[in-house]
Amino acid sequence: MPQPIETRRHSAAHVMAAAVKRLFPEAKLGVGPVIENGFYYDIDISRPVTNDDVKAITKEMRKILKENPAFTRMDISLDEAIKLFQDLGQTYKVELLNDLKTKGTTKVSAEEAQDVDPQNVGMVSIYRTGEFTDLCRGPHVTEAKEIGDGWKLTKIAGVYWRGKDTNPQMQRIYGLCFDTAAELEAYEVMMAEAEKRDHRKLGKELGLFVFSELVGPGLPLWTPRGTTVRELLNDFVWQLRKPYGYERVTIPHITKKDLYETSGHWAKYAEDLFKIKTREDHLYAMKPMNCPHHTQIYASEQRSYRQLPIRYAETTMVYRDEQSGELSGLSRVLSITQDDAHVFCRVSQVRDEAEKVWDIIQRFYNAFGFTLTPRFSRRDMAKPEKYQGSAEDWDKAEASLKGMLEEKKINWVDGPGEAAFYGPKIDFMAKDSIGRTWQVATIQLDFTQPKNLDVFCINEAGEREQVVMIHCAIMGSIERFMSVLIEHYAGAFPLWLSPVQVMILPVADRHNDFAFALAKELKERGLRVEVDDSTESVGKKIRNAEKGKAPRMLVVGDKEMEGGPLTVRVRGEADQKSLPKEAFIAECLKMVEEKAT
Ligand SMILES: [Zn+2]
Ligand SMILES: [Zn+2]
Repeated sequence: MPQPIETRRHSAAHVMAAAVKRLFPEAKLGVGPVIENGFYYDIDISRPVTNDDVKAITKEMRKILKENPAFTRMDISLDEAIKLFQDLGQTYKVELLNDLKTKGTTKVSAEEAQDVDPQNVGMVSIYRTGEFTDLCRGPHVTEAKEIGDGWKLTKIAGVYWRGKDTNPQMQRIYGLCFDTAAELEAYEVMMAEAEKRDHRKLGKELGLFVFSELVGPGLPLWTPRGTTVRELLNDFVWQLRKPYGYERVTIPHITKKDLYETSGHWAKYAEDLFKIKTREDHLYAMKPMNCPHHTQIYASEQRSYRQLPIRYAETTMVYRDEQSGELSGLSRVLSITQDDAHVFCRVSQVRDEAEKVWDIIQRFYNAFGFTLTPRFSRRDMAKPEKYQGSAEDWDKAEASLKGMLEEKKINWVDGPGEAAFYGPKIDFMAKDSIGRTWQVATIQLDFTQPKNLDVFCINEAGEREQVVMIHCAIMGSIERFMSVLIEHYAGAFPLWLSPVQVMILPVADRHNDFAFALAKELKERGLRVEVDDSTESVGKKIRNAEKGKAPRMLVVGDKEMEGGPLTVRVRGEADQKSLPKEAFIAECLKMVEEKAT
């Protein structure tokens, strides 16, 4: 039975550290956790690590794997451990152990922390691999060879010990580690493909969005082309929502601090809020979310159970103050457009409503060819203190969601402990065209905001009954969804979604007037058309249009001007074809109608 991949990744980190110690006996080690797809180890050799060093370390690691030492665990007392690592000159480990002694944890990062074991206070575990000893909570493989050959050291980064720039600098060596060499290779091929599709690069080439030094980082400005795509996506969501009884609402982008104090967000998220002081010295905030505002529309009148569910939808920007170092393309921005919606319903209506949201999510993501896997994010039953709301409501709501998942007879993932503190949810993972998965839509139940903001209905017995809120954005953040979509399609949007659907390419200057007249006609029929009237050769114009990812090109010359059929080029196809104008228009409109991919 092979060990879980995380165990092998972490064991590979130990072998790397062992190799480093052989080559650099003076090296001091920091932490070496498992990360997505691999591992890293922070080391201090008093100088930067070079690519040649990495080669040498890799060679030494191979040697160690051949020697195949066992991984042996020992439990020793904290004081013994401190003495041991002092003798080994591992001062960073000694610091961690002293932390463990005084604070009960070695927490440096979420990935690797050793906590005092309540069953075994005053003890820690260490692992020996050949001559190498490390402080570690495990688990590990039993012999080094179980790590296999699906690994590779990838890159080096300079970091500070414990992330503080007043601490010594260390070198972080990263590695990938998979079950097999074939899986490692497949991953590298995928990442190379991902790099070619980078949305920051493609977004610029396709003219979808720009950034301005004056406006600031993390604040994308959407061009007419980018705005066209955003609007089409948003219209599509609305088209799916409307039959289910959603109503549109509109709220201001700022609010008095009081709203977030009452909702509980101020206490939790005050740091992430953009705050505004008014001339009268009142404190306002830019909204980081829309839910509390929407509750105020609901609560503006007394609601009978007969009116429920009430469903509000609004596509609007929210603002979150992030550290500028974290901002990246469209994936991490300060101004986030949400296609937000909130359903107010009774606990007994959760199942029905969740079904409807699911249907919208399914249809939306299917249209782009994403495969979805839902995750049932529920309570960690061992930690009831983590969750707000009555256990009875949680039981009912979780049972509704689970019943729905089971009935659908699809693959789903169980997520104990993945619920939010305010309610259970279903999270959807989408697999894109190159095999990467992204967390996308969620169906998120919320018992807490209705309680904090006193959102209720009058039930059959004439009593006040607290309602449940379902947060159900379909794209979530349009910015992030656009980044995923651009990379999924490598910028080649299907015709219905392309900002420019038809590019008209006049062969010579004398065909320009005809080209513009044709463009006008196609526009009147509902297509998005542009004319390339530059002085380039027609060959160059075709290459440019291909680069701009226009799904259709029309080459117009003398024959077309004399009333002949249109000469049509389809994106990605070498041959051109002749089509009568009406047939061409009908074909395009049909593709739009069907959202053909
Ligand atoms: Zn370890
Ligand atoms: Zn919400």
